[in-house]
Amino acid sequence: MMTGKQYIESLRNRNIKVYLKGKLLDPKTLSEHPYLAGHFNAAAMTYDLAHDPAAEDLMTTKSHLTGKKINRFTHIHHSVEDLVKKVKMLRMISLKTGSCYQRCVGFDAMNALYSTTFEMDKALGTKSHEKLKDFILQVQENDWMVAGAMTDPKGDRNFGPSKQPDPDMFLHVVKQDDKGITVRGAKMHMTGMINSHWMILMPTMGLGEADKDYAVCCAVPVDAPNIIHIFGRQTNDGRKEEGEIDQGNAKFAIVGGEALTVLDDVFVPWDKVFMCGEYQFAGMLVERFASYHRQNYGGCKGGVSDIVIGAAANLADMSGYGNASHVKEKISQMVHLTETLYCCSIACSSEGRPTAAGNYYVDPLLANVGKHNVTSLIYEIDRLAQDIGGGILATTPSESDLKSPEIGKYVDKYLRGVQSVPTEDRLRMVRLVENMTGGTALVEAMHGAGSPQAQKITYPRLANIQAKKIAAAALAGVKNLPDTGKKK
Ligand SMILES: Cc1cc2nc3c(=O)[nH]c(=O)nc-3n(C[C@H](O)[C@H](O)[C@H](O)COP(=O)(O)OP(=O)(O)OC[C@H]3O[C@@H](n4cnc5c(N)ncnc54)[C@H](O)[C@@H]3O)c2cc1C
Ligand code: SF4
Repeated sequence: MMTGKQYIESLRNRNIKVYLKGKLLDPKTLSEHPYLAGHFNAAAMTYDLAHDPAAEDLMTTKSHLTGKKINRFTHIHHSVEDLVKKVKMLRMISLKTGSCYQRCVGFDAMNALYSTTFEMDKALGTKSHEKLKDFILQVQENDWMVAGAMTDPKGDRNFGPSKQPDPDMFLHVVKQDDKGITVRGAKMHMTGMINSHWMILMPTMGLGEADKDYAVCCAVPVDAPNIIHIFGRQTNDGRKEEGEIDQGNAKFAIVGGEALTVLDDVFVPWDKVFMCGEYQFAGMLVERFASYHRQNYGGCKGGVSDIVIGAAANLADMSGYGNASHVKEKISQMVHLTETLYCCSIACSSEGRPTAAGNYYVDPLLANVGKHNVTSLIYEIDRLAQDIGGGILATTPSESDLKSPEIGKYVDKYLRGVQSVPTEDRLRMVRLVENMTGGTALVEAMHGAGSPQAQKITYPRLANIQAKKIAAAALAGVKNLPDTGKKK
């Protein structure tokens, strides 16, 4: 298992092409670039904590393939305990970083693929499961970070993949021969992509026969030929070129550091291809990946919200109203909402079940409900933090003003709250709340792991409404239910 430092060093020799604000960056110094450093640091935490005796029970486990001790982020869950520990691990890491540490997406992709390839091989006679196991073995042995690349650009949402005016709006196979396949397209919003070793490419939705060429899933190094990554902008990112205070969380940044990844005819050898044309199993893969990823949100956003709660409470104390009853009540409300999110993640893990492949899968309905809650409750938690924080969250002068020899004394004087706390400390807390509760962070809660509608559409299918109707009818003594054309 690598340490955080070894992880960062292991990324230096990649031939990765990353563009930021129109410029190609030097791959050797990415981890020091002001726009990227925080995201590297956050991911490095997933490596460092594996060596911390206080965290190792959550951070490490035994490989089912080799029996060796491995970082949990490379593991295939084999029990309910594994699923629960994953959620607890995420909350613990978020409490240290206050931001996304990105390593879950590839982790979830491997787990979803594990059961999907097993069932696909059984049904269609493909040989993908053993290839996937070989890849997982390499991931575990090398302690790689793997990005999970599902979301396509999708172009005009009126059309599916094969009906798009531009066929590249969904990643697809453009060539195949006895050595491998060539894929073309792009993946959007790629969390942690630029500081990963490999990526797993997956289809973005269930597919039909006409979309066969889009049913492609494979593993590719992030620096393979013909791949470029274009780093996305975030709210307030220009502050990264200034000092530290105005960034709020300078060490670990905000959200995951997402990129647009362009695959302009990328060759993938057959041993790393897990799906090529098996459109019948695209939907299963998408649903399992989404459920594993939605499982996470009460863990990771629970920990992020713990920081928001702490920051808002500190700010109230620093301004002298920490003991006001309405502030205490709002803090309690934030706790209630945060623990509600956490409950869903623990519940969907506790209700996990073995798959045909032997690995464990979360309860998908509960996982979807949990992520669905995140799409609104995070807004409420952050709204309360902003309520407690006051107008200074939006209007505070900059770090440069605070440090200015001419006007610094005015910022220091007028931005002070209680006398015992230096103004700089109060401003650091202001910036933490400002950056954690605005712009990019909120959009991430809304759309990361799927927009609310993506969760809602699972309910009719997963919630067994018909069974509820029959139960209600039995209780009411009703024998005649209208024929709605659906199976009883
Ligand atoms: C910070 C962040 C990190 C992310 N990280 C990753 C990652 O690491 N890997 C990954 O694969 N993905 C990642 N995603 C992508 C995420 O899963 C998607 O953003 C999400 O699935 C929504 O897709 P979209 O952004 O294309 O939204 P859109 O498809 O543009 O949806 C926008 C709105 O339109 C609605 N809509 C869309 N299509 C239709 C339609 N046909 N009919 C009616 N309504 C429609 C949606 O319900 C939604 O309300 C990330 C996203 C964010 C914001
Ligand atoms: S948003 Fe949360 S679950 Fe997703 S990669 Fe980041 S830390 Fe992991």
